[in-house]
Amino acid sequence: MKILKTVSQAQKLTSLFRVKGKVIGFVPTMGYLHEGHLSLINAARKKADIVIVSIFVNPLQFGPGEDLKKYPRNIKRDEKLCRDAGVDYIFYPDVKQMYPEGYSTYVNIEKISDGLEGSIRPGHFKGVATIVLKLFNIVQPHYSFFGQKDAQQLSVLKKMTADLNVNTKIIVCPTAREQDGLAMSSRNIYLSKQQRADAPYLYKALEYAKRKIMPGNYNRDIDFLKGQMSKLIKSRVSATKIDYISFNDNTTLKELNTLKNTQNREILISLAVRFGSVRLIDNIVIKR
Ligand code: AMP
Repeated sequence: MKILKTVSQAQKLTSLFRVKGKVIGFVPTMGYLHEGHLSLINAARKKADIVIVSIFVNPLQFGPGEDLKKYPRNIKRDEKLCRDAGVDYIFYPDVKQMYPEGYSTYVNIEKISDGLEGSIRPGHFKGVATIVLKLFNIVQPHYSFFGQKDAQQLSVLKKMTADLNVNTKIIVCPTAREQDGLAMSSRNIYLSKQQRADAPYLYKALEYAKRKIMPGNYNRDIDFLKGQMSKLIKSRVSATKIDYISFNDNTTLKELNTLKNTQNREILISLAVRFGSVRLIDNIVIKR
C-alpha cells in the first residue's frame, strides 16, 4: 500500500490505471476509520482492481463553531486499518494541496441541499460537493462508495454526478451499526459513558417509526409519530437537543406531511440529535 500526498502524483497514477484498463474503486473519507468505512472498502475490493481511499478532513464543509479543530485524526492507525483491509493507495493531501491560495471555485447543488442537514449546517453541502467533485477529478474512479449513514449527502452527490455528467457510478453501502444499534461514527469516541448509553435511542426511535408504518399501518399520522419518537429520545437525560426528526421522499428529499399516496415510494426517516457538544445523525429508509 502506498500513500499519495499530492494531486499530481495521484492523477498521474489513476490516468495510467485508466489507460491500462484497470477498474478503480474509490472510498472518500475524513479518516479516523471504523467498521463503517471498512465495509465501504470491502465493497470496493469486490468490484475494483485498484482500491483508493482518500483521507481528508475538509475544512470547507465545517461551519464556524463546528468541530473542525477537534475532529479526530490518526493517520498511523488509519494506515494500518487500510493496509489490513487490502487498500492499494491512500490519497492523503494537506489543505494547501486541495485549496491552494486564491482558490475560488465551488459546487452548489440547489434545493436538495437546503433542508435537513443543510438547514442546520448552511454551506455544508457546498463544501461536500466541492471536495467530492475535486476528488473524483483526481482519482477518476469507475465506482465510488458512500454510506447510507449520510443520506442527504448521497442524494446531493447523486444529483451532482447526474447534473454534471460525472463519469463514476455511486454505490450505496448500508449503515454499519454497533450491536446496540448505534450507527458507527468517528465522532462516537467523544461520547461520555452516559451519552454512549443513551445514543442507541436514536436507532430505537427510527425502528419504532418503521414498525408503525409497516404494511397495514399506512394511515399513521406523521406528526404523531414524530412526537412519539421525540418523547422516546428526550426520555434519555444526555440527549440535549433534537435538531430535527423528518420524513422525506428518499429521491427528491421533499418533506412528507402525510403517508397517504406514498405507495411505491421510498420514505427516508432521518434525525439529528445533540448529546452535549456531540451531534449525531441517523436514518432509515422504508421501501413500500
Ligand atoms: P466520513 O469519514 O464520516 O466523512 O465518512 C466517509 C464515508 O463513510 C461516507 O460515505 C459515510 O457515509 C460513510 N460512513 C460513515 N459512517 C458509516 C457507517 N456507520 N456505515 C456505513 N458507512 C458509513
